[in-house]
Amino acid sequence: MYHVGVSESIKPYGINQLRDTFVVAETTRRSMRSNRSQDTQPELTLRKALWMAGLRGYRKNVRRYKGSPDIVFGRARIAIFVHGCFWHGHRCKNARVPTQNAAFWKAKFERNAERHLAAVEDLTSKGFCVLTVWECEIKADLEAIVGRIAHQLGGVL
Ligand SMILES: [Zn+2]
Repeated sequence: MYHVGVSESIKPYGINQLRDTFVVAETTRRSMRSNRSQDTQPELTLRKALWMAGLRGYRKNVRRYKGSPDIVFGRARIAIFVHGCFWHGHRCKNARVPTQNAAFWKAKFERNAERHLAAVEDLTSKGFCVLTVWECEIKADLEAIVGRIAHQLGGVL
């Protein structure tokens, strides 16, 4: 357990302030550290697997679209989000809501989910097929995910 100062009010802090402000359990701290917004380990793992499977020609972290999808196959109109289980509040064993400041974390995960939904709607309206891939799926069955993406790409590449 790290005691790094306690805030009385809960505001939408940036994660750096948050890290300094809250009492953060060690498991939470570990999840936070292993979850960056770009080039996260699951993203790197998936991109490498796509590359090995010959599924190339994608762009990464495409900011021109809402939500900055992690992987975009422009011609095939496929946008892929790789979601860290912790940040996106996945209900899996890798991502329990921290018991400290549970209300704060729940609100944060809900905001992330709302933002994601808005991004999916926006991309769909632009003709994209959107795939959301969870970190735990990448760990459990990377091959199946690559297969799904290959199937979606069909003969386009
Ligand atoms: Zn998960």
